[in-house]
Amino acid sequence: MKICVVGTGYVGLVVGTCLADFGHSITCVDKDQGKVDLLNSGGIPIYEPGLDDVISRCMEAGRLRFVTVLSDAVRAAEVIFIAVGTPAADDGSADLSGVLAVAKMIGESLTNGSVVVIKSTVPVGTADRVRAVVASVTDVDFDIVSNPEFLAEGTALEDFTHPDRIVVGYAKTSTGPMMDELYAPLVRTGRPIIHMSNRSAEVSKYAANAMLATRITFMNQLANFCDLVDADIDSVRRVVGSDSRIGSRFLFPGCGYGGSCFPKDVQALAFTSAEKGYPFDIINAVHAINEDQKLVLGRKVDSLFGEDWSGKRVAVWGLAFKPQTDDVREAPALVFIRHALSRGAEVVAHDPEAIESTRE
Ligand code: NAD
Repeated sequence: MKICVVGTGYVGLVVGTCLADFGHSITCVDKDQGKVDLLNSGGIPIYEPGLDDVISRCMEAGRLRFVTVLSDAVRAAEVIFIAVGTPAADDGSADLSGVLAVAKMIGESLTNGSVVVIKSTVPVGTADRVRAVVASVTDVDFDIVSNPEFLAEGTALEDFTHPDRIVVGYAKTSTGPMMDELYAPLVRTGRPIIHMSNRSAEVSKYAANAMLATRITFMNQLANFCDLVDADIDSVRRVVGSDSRIGSRFLFPGCGYGGSCFPKDVQALAFTSAEKGYPFDIINAVHAINEDQKLVLGRKVDSLFGEDWSGKRVAVWGLAFKPQTDDVREAPALVFIRHALSRGAEVVAHDPEAIESTRE
């Protein structure tokens, strides 16, 4: 299939590359000329294990190209992905300005029978807004698909090619078979593709992320409690995690979750719910507790040295929000470093991949 992917970040680049590796013909569009030039010259703007090899393989085979001009790429495509960022706005809502701006540009070049797939994580109701924006600038027949992405940075290739499930939400019955064809290599190997409405698909993504954030937050509070009663959280974690009803993943306590997804998605879910007049209490608590958890490490060091750490040198290992990525968005390490600096300490920091992004 001929596919256009708009937004060549952590998600768009992986999605475009993997779909090219499936055999589809992919044009990736990004407005960042520097990023596109880098990719065309054989470089890669992010660190993601294994991605460079697949990109060069697909580029050599002529199935993957990178451009800055959207119109021609959209005109030639049957399926157009939107994979631009949806960062948190100041009020906690998801900032959809990028998604809606791209939707309008896509609408202006859309050809009959094509589908626009929203890969970005967007609040419930966004597909309807995108549909209206596209329809306002074109008369062609099209559908909007909500196809949230569940990959995690650091394991993105494995996650995309071996997903627990693929979620597709849409309105027209003819869209379902198109999505089956798009993901045929995954469906063939037994990965379930779950068809539903746009709204259910949109909620599904927030539900999964909010559930995982809640597990982490529960364990963080349990760890704080264990500290108070002289119990070992690691022993407790092993007992809880070996319960087959619970499972062992996402039970590791730490200095709060970070990254470009959980913090903003938890807030956006709470915001949408509040808009509907329903305070999502558990999610509000998860966010507040996590903000506080990022301060726990600093407080522990305060309890050793007091509020003046001047003359002390603090070594920080690990800057990204998790291993195997260079992404430092909302990284708890940065909160600790700011705390250490505010106490007058000298900080020496190291990360195998995230030194440059931290400097920026
Ligand atoms: P990102 O910031 O890494 O990448 C976004 C890209 O879009 C950038 O390269 C930017 O230059 C480009 N862009 C923005 N506006 C554009 C425009 N008008 N035309 C062309 N390109 C444009 O973001 P990301 O981490 O890839 O996340 C993208 C979406 O996927 C978000 O909604 C995010 O919540 C979701 N998501 C992210 C992850 C993850 O692990 N990062 C996982 C699942 C879902």
